[in-house]
Amino acid sequence: MELLSVVVPCYNEQEAIPYFYKEIVKVREEFRTTWPEIDFEYLFVDDGSTDQTLKQIQELRSRDKSIRYVSFSRNFGKEAGLFAGLEHARGDYIVTMDADLQDPPVLLPEMFRAIKEEGYDSAATRRVTRKGEPPIRSFFARVFYKLINKMSNTEIVDGARDYRIMTRTMVDSILSMKEYNRFTKGIYGWIGFKTKWIEFENVERVAGETKWSFCKLFKYAIEGIIAFSTAPLSIATWFGIVMAIIAFIMILFIIGKKLLIGDPTSGWSSLVCIILLVSGIQMFCMGIIGQYLSKTYLESKRRPIYIAAKTSETAEGKEV
Ligand code: UDP
Ligand code: MG
Repeated sequence: MELLSVVVPCYNEQEAIPYFYKEIVKVREEFRTTWPEIDFEYLFVDDGSTDQTLKQIQELRSRDKSIRYVSFSRNFGKEAGLFAGLEHARGDYIVTMDADLQDPPVLLPEMFRAIKEEGYDSAATRRVTRKGEPPIRSFFARVFYKLINKMSNTEIVDGARDYRIMTRTMVDSILSMKEYNRFTKGIYGWIGFKTKWIEFENVERVAGETKWSFCKLFKYAIEGIIAFSTAPLSIATWFGIVMAIIAFIMILFIIGKKLLIGDPTSGWSSLVCIILLVSGIQMFCMGIIGQYLSKTYLESKRRPIYIAAKTSETAEGKEV
């Protein structure tokens, strides 16, 4: 028998979990006929939910022993949830998907076929539309993907979801990247492996609400850029060079003016403007350096990526 682990990060998903479970069990039935040698385990990662999410997972586990869970001591974010899920999964194949059914479980057989029969290491999904999303959010998302792909050598696919099936080898290589500031979309691109892309139309959340505010997404975007590109750092250098060239031309201009007309100085207001502009640019560049420094600082503390308060095994007093 081979094992397929379904990893599901959940943060306050009490409304969505019952729907999710119903759908995934249907897919499991489908697998039973096509690939009877494949067993399933469901690994829910409760990311410090404040609602009944954990209770619900435990309730499901009392009926279905193929359900396991890891429960965090507080909210650590989806990236930490994914990492914990991959770490605890025991499968030969591992799929990560959202609890809100925005990653349609019906695609799973097609994804699985890609790695089982077509020789891929991974099958990933990408949504080709963003219908149902606020237009402003879609706009900024597009800008972000354009920008990061210009700045980074690692390919980051527009519209890629974290809905992806992988072989054990690929998961182990993801786990070998222990960085604290995790940007999974970049990590997938960085490690490589043969990936089949499967496209689908955006599906709206089945229940509950999105956990990502615009502000949170913006911060996430900045984090992604910093984690996978050092291009902003060279912006500072370029600003410096351009400014120096401009200053040099102006010096020549003023000397020339003095020699021809004899009036080297005129107007303090232009001077003030220049000082403000240059110091503004300096502050901006220092800010960029500060961003990298702060990430380096956090990285150097080597804190764990998440803290598990409980897992299905420890809660029941079993060996992990
Ligand atoms: N999620 C999580 N921790 C968080 C935020 C979200 O584990 O801090 C989970 C959430 O429960 C869901 C998935 O990540 O399963 C995607 O979140 P959401 O649907 O809110 O994001 P969206 O689809 O709107 O981008
Ligand atoms: Mg969602």
